[in-house]
Amino acid sequence: MRMRTLAAAALLALTSLPAAAQDRTTYSEGSRPRVLINWRSFEANGFPAAWKDPITNVVINAYTRLNLVLGVDVRPQFFGDTDKVDAGSGEIVISANEKHACADNRLASTFGFFPDRLIIIIHAKNACDLTPWNWTPFWPNPGEISLHAVMMHELQHTIGLDHSSATKNIMGGYAWTSHYGPWSGDITDIRAIYRLRTDDRLRQLATYNGGTSWSTLTNDITSFGSTFARTTNKIAAAGNTSTGDYVVGWTTPGNNLTWIRGDGVSFDPANWFLYSVHPRPRYGTAMVSDHRGTWMWVMVDGRNDDNRVRVIRSRDNAASWAYTSFPAATTAATPGIATTVIGGRRAWIVLWVNYDESNQNETGYIYAAVSFNEGDSWSAPHRVDGFYRVHDGVSIEANDAGQCWYSFVWAGEKGIWDYGQNKLRTRACTISPAGIVTAGAACIQSQHSRVAPDLAWHTDTGTFVQGFREQNFATSLDSMRMGAGGCPAGFLHIGGSTSHVGPGMAPNPGWSTPAGSEIVMWFARE
Ligand SMILES: [Zn+2]
Repeated sequence: MRMRTLAAAALLALTSLPAAAQDRTTYSEGSRPRVLINWRSFEANGFPAAWKDPITNVVINAYTRLNLVLGVDVRPQFFGDTDKVDAGSGEIVISANEKHACADNRLASTFGFFPDRLIIIIHAKNACDLTPWNWTPFWPNPGEISLHAVMMHELQHTIGLDHSSATKNIMGGYAWTSHYGPWSGDITDIRAIYRLRTDDRLRQLATYNGGTSWSTLTNDITSFGSTFARTTNKIAAAGNTSTGDYVVGWTTPGNNLTWIRGDGVSFDPANWFLYSVHPRPRYGTAMVSDHRGTWMWVMVDGRNDDNRVRVIRSRDNAASWAYTSFPAATTAATPGIATTVIGGRRAWIVLWVNYDESNQNETGYIYAAVSFNEGDSWSAPHRVDGFYRVHDGVSIEANDAGQCWYSFVWAGEKGIWDYGQNKLRTRACTISPAGIVTAGAACIQSQHSRVAPDLAWHTDTGTFVQGFREQNFATSLDSMRMGAGGCPAGFLHIGGSTSHVGPGMAPNPGWSTPAGSEIVMWFARE
């Protein structure tokens, strides 16, 4: 592989693990600790009965985030309800009680027996004045305490991390609560005690009928022996109509950015490149081409905790890339990118879920910036959608008629939009000649996911195709189709498609059959 260098262009009272003086391996490497929830104990301590599913979702959402971003080979997995309070070997048992102790007032505690029988206890009340803690399993409104944020902290205790405040991390507490993290300190600490997860191979599905049916598209990347050909994050891909080639890009288990060119089946390692120094993304990436000569790839800089959105550009069929001068924008999840034509000019649109530590009020909303000159300059970052708070990242797709759609997972809000938790939502969008992206009609989908979906435009049938990862035990892949002006319909479960990451899709009219041109969907599993 050739190595390249990019051209430059309210602190909460949480818990300690009394028996742990330092980080240590708890559950064995390669294992999937079995997470059990004692729901009866939550109801007995005043948690609403209607929160059974929301709290279960919080637990799974929290460890899903840890599994993808920490990227180490110990990955908790939900195994159902229990009446137990203590954990057996290989288990993590989560229950609730009334309170801890006033002298050591806590929201939650992790206890249990080393190495692999840890328990998490959520405390219902302030132990000093016996008022209930203002918990929420949804997006936290001001004054509410996010169970998601606290659960990520406690789960990191169970897999062996003690408190730390040397660098930014969720083991040092929070200034406020959020759906984001883990941060650089957590990642460094956990990777010091567990090996990286290097088992998830890149795999590919393809459709020729706009997502009516899918089949496996066997390719060289899946069988590459190198651990650089593995990932724990969403994969990016984009096609070139004139050559039929694809560029497939991803982050390695150690967070190097890497990409390879090929025809979708044959990928020659001589066309495989890796950035050794930066930008080291921690989340998935997204890529788009104009199917002619220009390529854009969006990611989040992972060299620090600034979480800057970066867009790199290639004009040589992805032989080389350089940073564009993307404006200051921050996110902590996978961003999206698309291209279209507005008023005769080609537009490049980047969407991200805004993450601003100094402004929780604006955090969780989708933001955008647009370029009409291939990334030389961009419109100022602006909010697209003032209604939906987003769990995880966002994806966007557009056709050359100026139609665009974006798709995401809704976080839901306590007492207002409870039912929205983990629901897929897709909205039409418009792009003004001044580079302002505006939300249009919202599609009400009943499907759920824990990670961002993806979209691809199928020219032959005039259909946007949506791919997403189900939140079932198998985390399988599904797809839906929507005509321009319509909403996703025709739910299709793609058999045998278990994926540990959200899907990464790309259309490529350079490959077509009588049924239509190709759309590929990349995913990852053992
Ligand atoms: Zn703690």
